[in-house]
Amino acid sequence: MRRVDCLIIGAGAAGMMCAAEAGKRGRSVLLVDHASAPGEKIRISGGGRCNFTNLRAAPENFLSNNPRFCISALRRYTQRDFIALVEKHTIAYHEKTLGQLFCDSSAKAIIDMLLAELAEAGVRMELSARVDGIERQGEGFRATLSSGPVETASVVIATGGKSIPKMGATGFAYSTAEQFGINVIETRPGLVPLTYDAAMLERLKPLSGISVDAVVASGKTRFAEGLLFTHRGVSGPSILQISSYWRENGEIIVDLAPGTAIEDRLIAGKSSNGKQAVQTALAEHLPKRLAVAITEEVSLARPLGDTSDKALRQLGERVNRWRVKPSGSEGYRTAEVTLGGIDTAALNQKTMEVKAQPGLYFIGEAVDVTGWLGGYNFQWAWSSGWSAGQAV
Ligand SMILES: Cc1cc2nc3c(=O)[nH]c(=O)nc-3n(C[C@H](O)[C@H](O)[C@H](O)COP(=O)(O)OP(=O)(O)OC[C@H]3O[C@@H](n4cnc5c(N)ncnc54)[C@H](O)[C@@H]3O)c2cc1C
Repeated sequence: MRRVDCLIIGAGAAGMMCAAEAGKRGRSVLLVDHASAPGEKIRISGGGRCNFTNLRAAPENFLSNNPRFCISALRRYTQRDFIALVEKHTIAYHEKTLGQLFCDSSAKAIIDMLLAELAEAGVRMELSARVDGIERQGEGFRATLSSGPVETASVVIATGGKSIPKMGATGFAYSTAEQFGINVIETRPGLVPLTYDAAMLERLKPLSGISVDAVVASGKTRFAEGLLFTHRGVSGPSILQISSYWRENGEIIVDLAPGTAIEDRLIAGKSSNGKQAVQTALAEHLPKRLAVAITEEVSLARPLGDTSDKALRQLGERVNRWRVKPSGSEGYRTAEVTLGGIDTAALNQKTMEVKAQPGLYFIGEAVDVTGWLGGYNFQWAWSSGWSAGQAV
């Protein structure tokens, strides 16, 4: 019978970080994954360049039933700590926008860095491994792996969420939680393209390819980021961000010209330049193709001077407070993350250990902590993985 101090299931971002930290502390660690390669999501992340953290990462950038839960781990292992690790491994990186840090070359550099840390820490890794069961055995656990049974003092579940099943995502963390009587907050896809009904798509189709800086809001939450018209509707970072807050049947409100009160500008234009066509005046604030399409949509293809204030107000509303009702989302098939997960009320916020099950830990995306787009999700994986790594 193999015996280890710590069995970590899932060799993704959180599992690798946790394993390296536990190994450095002298623990015997076995890290297993059912995939044939570690860190597959890291490899495809950030368009292949891995947006590995965010300079501005703070608890406000995370969604959870308990928004305060993440504070401890994010403080114990910060973005600066991860940047120091990246610099120790001489990986070149740059800030793309809004504090988002990407590798200059390839996401593979981050995987290689983690593998080097694992090797230095003496962690054993088993890939293409199936976990058939985990049971309590005295104060520890007995796990049945495809390679045989293992006795371990602690088990860390780092199997991520449900996003992108094609890449090996499973509900393993949730079924393990159920087995040990731990509550799971209902999961849903996050950072996911929203979908639109056929009539809306037909209207948007001619706008495909146009991009604007927009402010997109759902309830009290708003994001000022890029918005892109595509053949599948409206997309881009601002829409992905708001998708984590949007609920079925809800509306999102889009400001296509943030900082410019279109109705005021157009009404003022009536006296200063009354002969100017409405669409030409609007094109001073929006890409021309978009200005033309919106003006035609509200049937205002005429000079400013011949247009009522009321009509210009409606046009302003259409630009600054455009109400969009998505019909749904593309779901886990394309979602970058899974919202919800292991109820943080069950976990110790400093160590990620299950309070009622000593020796059992949950880390990373499996937990009900989900970051915004922009490197926040990896930071949560590093911070929660590191925290558990100090305790197992
Ligand atoms: C396309 C895409 C791009 C992304 N880009 C970014 C980005 O640039 N920046 C950012 O911050 N976040 C990004 N994310 C989100 C980020 O990848 C995840 O939040 C992060 O990988 C979560 O880390 P994790 O270790 O908890 O889970 P994962 O990285 O998902 O790792 C879980 C591991 O567990 C293994 N596993 C699952 N089930 C089992 C099982 N039953 N038995 C054994 N092993 C199992 C999986 O094979 C996997 O290796 C992106 C996500 C996607 C899908």
